[in-house]
Amino acid sequence: MDTTKLFEAALGLKSPWRVAGLEFQAGARGGRGRLDIRLDFERGGALPCPECSKPCKAHDTDEQTWRHLNFFEHEAYLVARTPRVNCEVHGVLKVEVPWARPGSGFTLLFEAYVMALAPEMPMAALARMVGEHDTRLWRIVKRHVEEARRQVDMSEVRSVVVDETSRAKHHSYVSLFLEPKQLDEEGEVRQDARVLFATEGRASGTFHAFVSDLQTHGGKATNVRDVCMDMSPAYQLGASEALPWAAVTFDRFHVMKLVSFAVDQARRREGAGRLELRRSRFLWLKNPSTLSSPQRETIERLSTTNLLTAKAYQMRLNLQGLWDRRKPERAAAYLRRWCSWVLRVAKRPADPETPWVLETMHKTALTLRDNAQGILNYFRLRMTSGVIESVNSLAQAARARARGYRNADTFITMIYLIAGRLRFDLPALTHSP
Ligand SMILES: [Zn+2]
Repeated sequence: MDTTKLFEAALGLKSPWRVAGLEFQAGARGGRGRLDIRLDFERGGALPCPECSKPCKAHDTDEQTWRHLNFFEHEAYLVARTPRVNCEVHGVLKVEVPWARPGSGFTLLFEAYVMALAPEMPMAALARMVGEHDTRLWRIVKRHVEEARRQVDMSEVRSVVVDETSRAKHHSYVSLFLEPKQLDEEGEVRQDARVLFATEGRASGTFHAFVSDLQTHGGKATNVRDVCMDMSPAYQLGASEALPWAAVTFDRFHVMKLVSFAVDQARRREGAGRLELRRSRFLWLKNPSTLSSPQRETIERLSTTNLLTAKAYQMRLNLQGLWDRRKPERAAAYLRRWCSWVLRVAKRPADPETPWVLETMHKTALTLRDNAQGILNYFRLRMTSGVIESVNSLAQAARARARGYRNADTFITMIYLIAGRLRFDLPALTHSP
């Protein structure tokens, strides 16, 4: 087999395309070199019109270069004079080459390689590895994500989980709309959880944006029967306006987060004058089972003191018991008892000079009482945003690796890439890079 035939076989070239020549320039001081694989089509051979596929005669040619996968450690390029055909029906048109999509400066295999590595490593590192600027690589990723998202089918979406994830410091948020994993009648996973939609901000308008995206993908707002989210007033307004047929479940994770925040607020208010509360923040917020035995001894000792923080801590542990209830009516009674207990014990001190250490806990109990229906829907529907926690941690891991994303658009592209379960129209790499 001669060298050009070897490269034709390796590239999978088919007639009329063939390898016309190879040029290799070694890198300076043994560094990364460059291989140009020159391609040509058989003169006089017919080429298909890109519109109707009818074999046509070549009209003229235009030289183009595509970045290809590395040849050993060297950068490789395909160089070809791409012809334009003169079709009787469609006129003069540029022929599509089988190794790249129109307008791209990269081969499909190079794009497939970038798409395989982009979810696994920071774009800056990937850019260094392949010797391309990261903005060019981002363009590849964005285009494939956009194209794949156009094919997404949302016609069967019945339940949605909504949460926010932070993009950068200083309250820059992105709202995520997910579909939880779908099971078939036998209880097998029919479809894994996926991010349906992600958008900047966490205002009520994000729900309207979601519904319009849902509709462009064949879904209907009236089909959505369940939505699981946190108790933020903006989300509640958004859900009631844009998904009025959905029963709202306030997620267990978010309920416990509010109560933990109230414990921490109590510790801060009380901590100023109490030496024993110093450096105890972490202990109050963990569940005892996850602590080491010295830590557990400390929290046990602290929690039996007359500290109000200890009281708040008991309230949190007590509410934890709510989630073990099996029957909805038991859970309802449990929550009712918890709220009236907390409202009684955490009320404002009679003496105006005494600081109101449990004020946040008192407010939290009022919030939970007002939103009891949504909290208790959990026991009916068992909807939980656990899935969002895993996507959130993936998104945050990707963010940490990239040291923050320059803009929301890039962050959202990455979220779709990692958690959108998208199908990309790309050749399969023979083995994972
Ligand atoms: Zn034609």
